Amino acid sequence: MSLEIGALRDGDIATRAPSAQRGPAEHRLAEQWSRVRARLQAEVGEVEYRTWLKQISLASLDGDEVTLVLPTRFLRDWVKKEYGELITSLWQGENHAIRSVDIRAQPGRGTAPNLAEPPAPVASTARPLPRADVIAPLDPRFTFETFVVGKPNEFAYACARRVAEAPAVAGFNPLFLYGGVGLGKTHLMHAIAWELSTRQASGAPVTVSYMSAEKFMYRFINALRSQSTLEFKNELRSVDVLMIDDLQFLIGKDNTQEEFFHTFNALVDAGKQIVISADKSPSDLSGLEDRLRTRLGCGMVADLHATTFELRISILEAKAARTGVEVPGKVLEFLARKITSNVRELEGALNRLVAHANLFDRQLTMETAHEVLHDVLKAFDRKVSILEIQKKVSEHFNIRTSEMSSARRARNIARPRQIAMYLAKQLTSKSLPDIGRHFGDRDHTTVMHAVSRITELMGQDAALAEDVELLRRILEN
Ligand code: ADP
Ligand code: MG
Repeated sequence: MSLEIGALRDGDIATRAPSAQRGPAEHRLAEQWSRVRARLQAEVGEVEYRTWLKQISLASLDGDEVTLVLPTRFLRDWVKKEYGELITSLWQGENHAIRSVDIRAQPGRGTAPNLAEPPAPVASTARPLPRADVIAPLDPRFTFETFVVGKPNEFAYACARRVAEAPAVAGFNPLFLYGGVGLGKTHLMHAIAWELSTRQASGAPVTVSYMSAEKFMYRFINALRSQSTLEFKNELRSVDVLMIDDLQFLIGKDNTQEEFFHTFNALVDAGKQIVISADKSPSDLSGLEDRLRTRLGCGMVADLHATTFELRISILEAKAARTGVEVPGKVLEFLARKITSNVRELEGALNRLVAHANLFDRQLTMETAHEVLHDVLKAFDRKVSILEIQKKVSEHFNIRTSEMSSARRARNIARPRQIAMYLAKQLTSKSLPDIGRHFGDRDHTTVMHAVSRITELMGQDAALAEDVELLRRILEN
């Protein structure tokens, strides 16, 4: 028997079961899982449960093996080591047929498109920093030199540079970096740490401690358990620069937040630098204690904005140059247009192309790009709909959206309609007949004609070319 379950998280059971779509076997499994959870919670207590176990979801039952998943590798390792046996025995108590429980890490389960991961940092190439015990290993690729600066990130970059040059300067403490996933927060934090560590050779030694909020909590809870909180506190308070990445992870973790708040105050009072990252600005981080939120916003708050086309191109060019594989400009431009969500995904797509080129020892062309990234592009295409294109184009040319499907052939209407068809071809993966259907059931040859007519006009008419480019940009962001 093999059962695949959509992620069943805490609370899901109560709201989703009994579900009409779920078969009896699935339903039974979900019930067993819900009982295992309840017993787990009772065994380890509320705090530990919330901290480590709440995020587990049930993935499948295959034969005699249950698979559970957690969103990060770090959590997976911890849960496996600390609770693996307990979880297995609880499962066996519920269902005698079960022999083993497999616990896996599955980041962004169910949301991320199938992108190649960037290669993992190579531990041995990491330059050692002093006091390796208080720092997480830094990624050797994340330096200021490899960070590409553009409009969306220039302010955050300048702030990071500033802190690396002169830590704990008034007005820059704490430095709070925020922005969506994959926009360079961790990169900038590592860059600060590298910079400080390389420059200290010439001056007084600087102790930098970088860790994720998750790791901070892990260390704290561990210290509580082994009754070594005092050592933990002293260790943290002895650093010159403390960096905590992904602070949003502390939301709802009251004890850890409290500890962090005290550490924070002690360090700032002692003239030490704090650097924090989070996915939102301090004022938007609801769920954090007010007094902590206030203090977080007291220094410099810098936002990493979503990337622009220009920045994506610069990043791709820089990264491509470092791979040693020749990637045609057209391919880079294609990637920058299609993959707009974040730099990590952009990088993932480029890595995949490069890996492909290396593996097959082939020139990269637009054809290979389409072929290799087929699944990725499909996932991104869904973002712009033909309707959206029609709306934006109509707005731009001041005509009614209904004219997109009308039979009228006056130039001031027909031209925008052709532009919308052209953009639909460029920005979505819809076929020509499909596009035609959205424009008042026109024939695919009409769409084909529109595409070639606009392409031709863009070469002759600068104003029209500008309109089209502008619309493309609006639609892509
Ligand atoms: P975040 O911490 O904001 O989620 P990361 O710092 O981990 O994002 O960045 C994701 C990936 O994108 C990393 O590999 C990073 O090197 C890369 N990256 C992000 N922004 C830039 C940039 N401006 N220049 C070069 N690489 C970048
Ligand atoms: Mg990060």
